[in-house]
Amino acid sequence: MADLVVVGASLAGLRAVEAVRNDGFSGSVTLVGAEEHLPYDRPPLSKEHLADDEPGDSTYREREKLDEIGVELVLGESATALDVDARRITVGDREIPYDGLVVATGAHARTLPASVLSPDLAGVVTMRTRDDSRHLHQLLRSGHPRVTVIGAGFIGSEIAAVARKRGHDVTIVEALPVPLVRGVGERMGQALTALHERHGTRVLTGASVTEIRGSSSVEAVVLDDGTVIDTDVLVVGVGAGPNTAWLESSGLTIDDGVVADTTLAAAPGVYVAGDIARWPNALFDDVLDTPMRLEHWTAASEQGARAARNAVDPASAQEYTTVPYFWSDWYGSRIQFVGVSRSGEGFPEVETELVMGDEDGSFVTLYRCGDRLAGALTVDRPAEVMQYRRLIMKRASWDEGLEKAEERRQRAAKKAEAAQQG
Ligand SMILES: Cc1cc2nc3c(=O)[nH]c(=O)nc-3n(C[C@H](O)[C@H](O)[C@H](O)COP(=O)(O)OP(=O)(O)OC[C@H]3O[C@@H](n4cnc5c(N)ncnc54)[C@H](O)[C@@H]3O)c2cc1C
Repeated sequence: MADLVVVGASLAGLRAVEAVRNDGFSGSVTLVGAEEHLPYDRPPLSKEHLADDEPGDSTYREREKLDEIGVELVLGESATALDVDARRITVGDREIPYDGLVVATGAHARTLPASVLSPDLAGVVTMRTRDDSRHLHQLLRSGHPRVTVIGAGFIGSEIAAVARKRGHDVTIVEALPVPLVRGVGERMGQALTALHERHGTRVLTGASVTEIRGSSSVEAVVLDDGTVIDTDVLVVGVGAGPNTAWLESSGLTIDDGVVADTTLAAAPGVYVAGDIARWPNALFDDVLDTPMRLEHWTAASEQGARAARNAVDPASAQEYTTVPYFWSDWYGSRIQFVGVSRSGEGFPEVETELVMGDEDGSFVTLYRCGDRLAGALTVDRPAEVMQYRRLIMKRASWDEGLEKAEERRQRAAKKAEAAQQG
């Protein structure tokens, strides 16, 4: 294997190039990225970078570090085509050949149709890039008291929480009757929504946006029931779509992401990683029968390394399995989730049980699919969540999940008793 090319210079792409260099891979390594910036961390964009007085910089590595390990960087240019048979990609007017390719072009923020939202209206942001975060940072600091967030997903919720903490008047508009139902299920979606309400953020559910008003800047959001929300800033947080447009003519299977096998291979010599990857996660074959696409930091990091190792040594390609994990920070509370919250057709429905704490404060809720422990959600219980991740990784039964919960409860009680005495 002589040439590894990685397309997408963000988390998955960076982990890809570093993993093979750490392993001693001696061939050439090229990292192609559409953004001008060096790879940077996205989670802080909707959290501390908005909250801090100065916009932060979450660049992972300086250019010298990447030079040192022998990574050729091609930044500020997009790959526009992939020829799987000839093993080459097109970038600008150049063809770059590869022996192994990692596709890690991630996702973009979805927006509203032009019939509802004029693309020229000022005061409107989506949140995916450093530039998006800096734009919102500047808006929040320049005398715009009213903020409306469309979409009560995790990123929209984080932004709402920061804006609220900064003293803005914040409204979230959500089309679903219960926010986050796809991510954490109905009951926990309600429990998390209550966090917003406790902090004075208004949440309107089951509401569709029919019109965005404003002459040069956004002025109001109009809902299908006629409600008019006057606003100075509009955050469109309606999810992300995988960046697959450049692969349309490649012959790869594209279905809300690039479809790969259990080793992340999408075609001979081509592996996928990160938010763009859809692959069968064999660890959950008794819960889901469809391939998974995650938009989680940890999976992107792990997949980047696995995909690159498989790309440079396809003869010994290894399967990638994981227990999905994500976190989110709202109003100083840390929400963490491991596993899956929904099952596929034909599998037992997923049920939840609160096993520690209470829903108004810090708590642990477990997810059950048939006899299996399928997931765990924690709020402000950082010591708990990885206990359950380990169990799920071992395909632990529901009863083992409950036993662990009992053990953790007893431990917490003893700790509280000791603290009281001492
Ligand atoms: C604001 C925000 C907050 C988040 N917070 C959390 C969190 O709290 N917890 C959590 O678990 N996850 C979080 N995530 C998700 C996590 O950051 C992503 O899962 C991760 O960034 C995915 O990495 P990636 O490398 O697959 O894709 P991306 O980070 O999307 O990067 C893909 C890169 O490819 C580039 N690219 C696209 N097309 C081309 C092309 N044709 N040619 C060349 N380059 C191209 C893009 O410009 C981009 O730089 C958050 C994401 C965002 C946006």
